[in-house]
Amino acid sequence: MNGDIHERARKLIDAWHVEGLPESDRAGLETHLAACPECAARAQVTERALQSLRTLAPRLNPAIVAQARLRVRVRAQELREYRSRLHALWMSCALSWILGALTAPLLWQGVQWIAERFALSTAASVTLFVLSWSVPAAAAAAVLVWWRSQTATENGFLPPRT
Ligand SMILES: [Zn+2]
Repeated sequence: MNGDIHERARKLIDAWHVEGLPESDRAGLETHLAACPECAARAQVTERALQSLRTLAPRLNPAIVAQARLRVRVRAQELREYRSRLHALWMSCALSWILGALTAPLLWQGVQWIAERFALSTAASVTLFVLSWSVPAAAAAAVLVWWRSQTATENGFLPPRT
C-alpha cells in the first residue's frame, strides 16, 4: 500500500511536467513531497533534467526561420498549382478520349470516302484510320513529355541540358 503511494506520486510528477495536474492532485502531490524525501528528490531530479533540456534547445536565427517558412509556403503554392494543372490535364484527356470515341465512326466514314476517291486498299484505309486517330495523341504526349522534363529541370529534379 505504501509503495502504491510513492508510485502514484512518481506518476503525478511525470504528468505534472507533461500535461499539468488538476489542483486536487497537485495539492496532494505537494503534501506528499513535503513528507517524503525520496519522491521530493525524484521531483527535483526531474525538474533539473527538464531545465537542462530547455537550455540545450538550439536558438535559431529568426531570419533563417522566416526564410525557411517563406520557402515552404512558396513550395506549397507550387504544388497546389501543379495539382490544379494536373487535374485540368486529366480532365482534358478524358474529354479527348470521349470525343475521340464519339467521332470514330465519322472518322472511319471520312477515311472510307478518301479510300474510294483515291482507290486505297483496305490495309491502307485501316492504316490511315489508325494514324489519323493516334498521331494527334502521340504528338500531344510528346509535347507533354517535353513540358514535364522542362518543368523538372526548372524545379531542380533533373540536371539542366547543355
Ligand atoms: Zn514518496
